[in-house]
This record gives sequence, C-alpha cells and structure tokens, in this order.
Amino acid sequence: MKELFRLIPQVSSILEDEGFKKEYGHFDQRITSGLVREALDSVRDKIAGGEALDEPQVKKLVESTLKKKLSPLTKRSLKRVINATGIVLHTNLGRAPMFPNPYLAPLLEGYCNLEYDLAEGKRGKRGVHVKSVIKMLLGAESAVVVNNNAAAILLLLRTHAEGKEVIVSRGELIELGGSFRLPEVMTASGAILHEVGTTNRTHLKDYAGAISEKTGLILKVHPSNYAIRGFASSPTTAELSALAKEKNVPFVYDVGSGLLRKIDHPNFREEPDCLSALGDGADAILFSGDKILGGTQAGFIVGSEKIAGACGKIPLMRSLRLAKAHMCMLEEALRTWLLPDREVMKLNPVMRMISMMPEELEARANTLSGEINEVNPAIGSFVKKVEGYMGGGSLPDINFDSYAVAIKPKETPQLLLQKLRNFETPIVARIEDDLVIFDMRTVLEGEGEKIARALAQ
Ligand SMILES: *Cc1c(COP(=O)(O)O)cnc(C)c1O
Repeated sequence: MKELFRLIPQVSSILEDEGFKKEYGHFDQRITSGLVREALDSVRDKIAGGEALDEPQVKKLVESTLKKKLSPLTKRSLKRVINATGIVLHTNLGRAPMFPNPYLAPLLEGYCNLEYDLAEGKRGKRGVHVKSVIKMLLGAESAVVVNNNAAAILLLLRTHAEGKEVIVSRGELIELGGSFRLPEVMTASGAILHEVGTTNRTHLKDYAGAISEKTGLILKVHPSNYAIRGFASSPTTAELSALAKEKNVPFVYDVGSGLLRKIDHPNFREEPDCLSALGDGADAILFSGDKILGGTQAGFIVGSEKIAGACGKIPLMRSLRLAKAHMCMLEEALRTWLLPDREVMKLNPVMRMISMMPEELEARANTLSGEINEVNPAIGSFVKKVEGYMGGGSLPDINFDSYAVAIKPKETPQLLLQKLRNFETPIVARIEDDLVIFDMRTVLEGEGEKIARALAQ
C-alpha cells in the first residue's frame, strides 16, 4: 500500500505541469489547488480504504479523478436539454421554453429603465413594464408581479390575512410538489386556515357559515395537478364572488396556470382562464408566469387596487420582487397575448405545443423516424401513438393524444436513456412498454436532427 501512496503526485507538481497550466493556468490558483488537493485526497482515501489497485490503476485513477474534479471549471453546469418526454410544462426541465428575445441582451449588458421614469427623469416603479401589458390584457385596475405564484400567495396572505382566517375548501388544499403545501404556506404567512366542506363536495352554505369577523379572505384554488371526478361539486366563481361581496370579505382565486383568456381549442377546454375569473367578480386572481402563459418564472396578483394593488405596498414585497431579466422576458411573452388567438398559438411556444393536433405530431414523428432509420437502419425506429401530459400543474385530467418515435433498444431502455442524457445536448426521453419513446409534442424545431445524430452514435 505504501508504494501505491508514493504514486500519488504532489499538488505543486500537478500545478506546474505544462498541460495542466495550459488548460487551467488562467484560473485563480486558490481554486485550482484546492480542487487538485481534493482529488488527490479522494484517491488516497480509496487506497487507504483497501481498494485493490495496481500501479497503472492508481495512475489512471489520479487522472480520472482530477479530470472529474476540475471539469466544472471549464464546463457549464446549466445547459440546453432536449425534452422528449412530451410533458410540456416540465418543472425539472425549466417549464416554459421562451422564444428568441432580441431585447434581453442589450438590456442586461447595459443599464435600463427598470425603476426609472424616463418621462419625468426620476424614480419610477419597478413593475410598470409588465403591469401596463397585463392591465391591457385583463382590463384590471391593478397588478403586482413577484418571483413566482408561491410568492404571490404568500404576499397576498400576509397583506390581507395575517392573524385572520382564510376560508378554503377541503377539496382545494393542494400540494404542488417540492414541499409546497397550501396549509403550510398559510402558517408561514401568519394566516389561519379555516377549512370548509369535504374532499369531494363543498357548498356555498359551507362558505357562508364560516364567514365571521375573523375572516381575512375567501380563497379559491384551482386544483391544478389533480381532479376530483364523480360525486363532486363546488360553488362557481360567480357564486363565491356574490357571497363575498354580500358579506364584505375579499375573494381571491388562484387560477394557477395563467391561461389569460378562453381559447377556442379542445385542449384548453377545462382550464380556468384569468379574464373569466375576473369577469365573474373575483377581487383578485393569482397565476404563474411560466406555465400556460409561456413566460418566465413569475407570479401575478391582478385585480382591484384595494386587494391586488395593496399587496405591492407591504415590506415583504421587496423580498419577492422580480429580476430585470425576468421582467424583460415576461413583457415579451405577454405581448404575444396581444395578438389574436390563432397567432398566440403560433408564436407562444407553450401555447403552440399544447395546441398541436395529432395529425401534425404524427407527420413530425414520421419524418424523424425516417431520418433515424436512414442514418442507421439497424435502429428500426417506428411511430407510436402515445399519451402526452401537460405537467407543471396544469390540465391535470387531460391526456393529449400524441405521437412518438419509439425504439426497442438492444441494451436495456434505462441504459439507452442514460446514454442519451450524456449526449452533448442531453436528451431526456421516457420509457413505455420497454420502448424508449421520443414524444414529438415537446421536441422543438431543429432538435429532431440532434436526436437522430445521437442515436446514430
Ligand atoms: C403552479 C401553481 C402554484 C405555484 O406556482 P409557482 O409559480 O410554481 O410558484 C400555485 N397555485 C396553483 C393553483 C398552481 O397551479
């Protein structure tokens, strides 16, 4: 073992190596020497741990451990990925993809009027750039934009219900994953949850019976990642609004995905939309920026000045505010919604993917399958009808008919998935019936070619 330890080089000799200097010499030496030391220590630990190694193996281990430790210096961690899962709003894959935005780089590389009123030459308001567009789209009096919808909920509760009761139906006490549970957010905000009704049925009289002088607000939450079917009912938005007005308590509706208006297309039929929710009398609505809206991570509180506007005026707002890059991209996404529905479904990537009809997907799958079999006929890919999902807490109950390119791998499907993830543009696919599936709904322009190339290798 002693001899093996002697094979481990000194940190200094590695740092002075010409090859090393060429690749890593321009980095801060405190960082490189730290990484080299960690790499060598881990080799030492392996030897000390009794791993049976011979001389060439130790040399190889030193080399590979160094390479692995140092690679984050030269390789970016966050990178473009091809989403072939068919899940349009894949939270782990960054939710909504954006379209090219020629305004972002100039804005970030220089200064911008983020909080500066150019007409008056003095301090302006941070949210105005997004607010003016959203107010046009939804005809609302006021809008507040924050970091995400979870932040919007927190800000709303802190503003209107700290130390007060919030009435929520038991059928709507959602968990959204990543440990975001509505009852816990209530606690964190200082609001007191007042549950009404049952899991499957909540009546207007349940809400009416719960209202007292302790009530801060009535909150309706769109159960965006599940659906209760069968013997189920809950009051409509209009009924709740009327009750809330009569009793003089605020009524807020968390619609979730940010479908801004009703869109005449079968794939949006069951999704609540922002404009209708406001039209039905909600004092404010909440929604995400990076779900169906098709923008970046953000949360909106839109509605009356008294309920929505007030949220932007409490100190917590400062901790939840949106970054300028997001503001820019969000404005761009919102602007697509100023166009007619047909154009929104063409230009907005998320809207385009959701609204793609099976015929188009089948044609795209045929093209890709042909390309794959052309570069390597042995792969034997074929087109398969599959079910696609919306994901990201939207349209929980609707599975879209979709088409995929399927491959029966010679190795295990898991192994092929792993290899695909290691491709220079990693490809995330899924397994169905022991086949590896590339669902065409989420494969973007130009990405099919990359899939074909990866498979050829
Ligand atoms: C997704 C969702 C949220 C959380 O939104 P984030 O933007 O992810 O924080 C809250 N409420 C509903 C109903 C949702 O669908």
